[in-house]
Amino acid sequence: MAVNVYSNYPPELTSDQEDFLVQTVKNWSVEHALTVRPSTAIVSQEINTNNVLATNAPVTLFPSPFPKACFQQARCLQQVYNELYAAIASDQEWLEAVLKELIEVDDFLANLWKIHLAVKEEGYVQDLTLGLFRSDYMLHTPDDAPPSLKQVEFNTISSSFGGLSVKVAQLHTHLATYPSAKQPVAYPPHALFARPDKDSSNGPSINTIGHPPPNSAVSTLTAGLAAAHNAYGPSKSIPQLPPCILFLVQDNERNVFDQYALSTNLYEEHRIPSFRLPTSKILTSTSIPSKETNPNRPLIYTPPSSPETQYEVTVVYFRALYAPSEYDLPTSWAARLHLERSAAIKCPTVLLQLSGSKKIQQVLTSLPPEADHLQHFLPGHDASILSNLRSTFAPQYSLSSEGTASDSDEIQGVRLALSPTTAQHHVLKPQREGGGNNIYRTNIPPFLASIPRSQWKQYILMELIQPPTSAKNVALRSDGQVVRGNVISELGIFGTALWKTSTGSSKPDILHNTEGGYLLRTKANDSDEGGVAAGFSSLDSLILYEDL
Ligand code: ADP
Ligand code: MG
Repeated sequence: MAVNVYSNYPPELTSDQEDFLVQTVKNWSVEHALTVRPSTAIVSQEINTNNVLATNAPVTLFPSPFPKACFQQARCLQQVYNELYAAIASDQEWLEAVLKELIEVDDFLANLWKIHLAVKEEGYVQDLTLGLFRSDYMLHTPDDAPPSLKQVEFNTISSSFGGLSVKVAQLHTHLATYPSAKQPVAYPPHALFARPDKDSSNGPSINTIGHPPPNSAVSTLTAGLAAAHNAYGPSKSIPQLPPCILFLVQDNERNVFDQYALSTNLYEEHRIPSFRLPTSKILTSTSIPSKETNPNRPLIYTPPSSPETQYEVTVVYFRALYAPSEYDLPTSWAARLHLERSAAIKCPTVLLQLSGSKKIQQVLTSLPPEADHLQHFLPGHDASILSNLRSTFAPQYSLSSEGTASDSDEIQGVRLALSPTTAQHHVLKPQREGGGNNIYRTNIPPFLASIPRSQWKQYILMELIQPPTSAKNVALRSDGQVVRGNVISELGIFGTALWKTSTGSSKPDILHNTEGGYLLRTKANDSDEGGVAAGFSSLDSLILYEDL
């Protein structure tokens, strides 16, 4: 059996060592904008009246050990996953068949679907779609079995933390290698930070490269945005206008520096200007010419700060509008429709957002002979690649008695959810994004009992992934608290795809498909939820090890 990497990891710190490490992390974070705007729970509105303050993002003091083979597997699968979701988003009929019963009971999905129908009726004027994706995984180690990789979810909208995760990898690398990899000042000596030939205090079976692998999330994501920007083609406006990308953001966004890392790189590497558009300003700062003036429906952006210079929007990059609570103005849905019907390339379209529903992820796990969706959507791939991808699925069940789920599925899902004995190994997920929406374990049966049975089909039931129990780390929270203990990590792999969907075809023509960059989020092992922005997790990076 492999040596337990955590038997003496992370290394113990004396109080002087901890002070030094924490000070270094605090200062490095502010120096390199590994920062967030503080929540009012940390700094009250009275103190931060002008919203000028920023603080370190919650980060772990050490990178977390991660098995190299699982990391490689996640990376190898990313482009296949990109292609899978491009294919799903292009197949309106399949999407409608799967989501139909949810649309009947879920207003949010129903409103999104209505937007698709309205634009379809008028005629789409943009056949390109951009996806900036993040596939999230945990290690699964039931009964201390060797770790395998299981997908938590696949994100098709607002996949965040590419910007900050690059900086965490740089921070941990700095801590492990300054002033030299042999004798870093911030970290006590440990086999994981040493070259394999130098130290064997963890036993002979662990091999590492001593610091986190480089993280290319920012360049991967901005190359995706640039590919879409360039594919947009010449201005469709009369007269022609200079092009720009819009970052659609929440009005009170705290994770702004993650987004700035992308917009700054977009300009520095690709010379593409971008602007931040808060969702409340969509209808006042953008316009589409009337059909009579210009049937191509270019999206015109007028920066409030320089109204005399107008731009044509090539790409709308959504870092907002994934949750019902964000549609809180009377005009919110009209604003979403306005963007969808424009000629700007959407990242994502309504159809791609819907493709990321938990329901879709559950339906994909159905096995032949009932259905082989992977074979259907990825016909060009070897069976071995499809079975590799399928191996990352955790068991998931429908709670519905209609639609694509077979009777046996329905009975199984409902039975597993209602019995406290089996419910304790499961999580119940609604069709929502952004954290804090799931129901866990023994809370599932009473929760289901509290809502009408007709509503159950809004949820899917998923078996809980069983991460390693011995993992430990120390986190510096945004309020300066240092917390240590047993932890659970979630790996995200970033990928991008740009594709064209032709009228009447359900197959995407993929123009750009890349993988690159990762996010590791680490939370206390007694926390079910995992979001960083939601306050549960800290940003982390990884240190790869392999069993020899
Ligand atoms: P969201 O869209 O809200 O991010 P997720 O499916 O990612 O929804 O669930 C939120 C969190 O719940 C995850 O980050 C993870 O910590 C936990 N979680 C979700 N599914 C599972 C699972 N099958 N096993 C263990 N933990 C899970
Ligand atoms: Mg998630």
